[in-house]
Amino acid sequence: EHAARRLELRAALHRAHQDGEFTLYYQPRVDALTRRVVAFEALLRWISPSRGVVAPGEFIPELEESGLMLKVGEWVLHSACAQAEQWRREGFEPLRISVNVSALQFQSQDFLPMVRRALARSGIEPTLVELEMTESLLIGNVEQARTTIAALKALGLSISIDDFGTGFSSLNYLRHFDIDYLKIDRSFTTELATDARARAVATAIADLARALHMSVVAEGVETEAQAEFYRSIQCSELQGYLFCKPLPADQVRSYL
Ligand code: C2E
Ligand code: MG
Ligand code: MG
Repeated sequence: EHAARRLELRAALHRAHQDGEFTLYYQPRVDALTRRVVAFEALLRWISPSRGVVAPGEFIPELEESGLMLKVGEWVLHSACAQAEQWRREGFEPLRISVNVSALQFQSQDFLPMVRRALARSGIEPTLVELEMTESLLIGNVEQARTTIAALKALGLSISIDDFGTGFSSLNYLRHFDIDYLKIDRSFTTELATDARARAVATAIADLARALHMSVVAEGVETEAQAEFYRSIQCSELQGYLFCKPLPADQVRSYL
């Protein structure tokens, strides 16, 4: 039954890609002090005629397994860059756009050429593009990751580590990579109010990141108390429902 369901999902995802059922939502990241929007993160959604709006957690693993993530990932990067460039052309002040990168994409031979294609086709200024990667993606092959990140930085892009603190990777790997942003995982945020140890770990992560010249971004901020805590430990950017949920592209204009 499980295998049959997966085959069905896989076929549905192929059709979704062909029929253009994938779309991007955008969630703002705000400056921790001024609360002004400084960036948007592009988040993948599948608008399925039969299932409705499907969150990425339900289908990204299958996209990865089937290899379809390579095509969808290229579509995501190109669409997000083109959308950001479009907003800039409409007269909104230029904002960074951040895009999540999966392990399959990052390890592909075509990754750097794919990034160059997306930048060139969208016409976006590369310094406005940030790529989010998880810890596990980087420690899989440190040498290769280091070379790839250096090439991305040479193009002008920024790099962030997503969901930091949830993997079981060693802290030592951080010094090998030229990372711009460290995103503290949402699981710390939810525990801040009740768990002094979550506060201690979050504070230590922020101190470590700053010592390594990275900016700290807090994920999943839902309350003023959480925002205030992250500001007090000098996080530079905040993201979460307190400010805004991920929005479809057409709602971003009125939000801005
Ligand atoms: P992520 O990159 O860590 O994205 C943050 C997730 O937390 C998003 O879920 C967002 O909607 C949610 N979130 C943001 N603020 C809050 C909050 O205040 N409270 C709560 N409860 N949740 C909040 P989403 O959109 O379901 O995405 C889940 C994950 O799927 C992402 O985690 C990312 O790892 C992955 N993903 C999304 N889009 C893409 C994509 O285009 N490519 C790849 N490879 N992965 C993607
Ligand atoms: Mg992310
Ligand atoms: Mg995250």
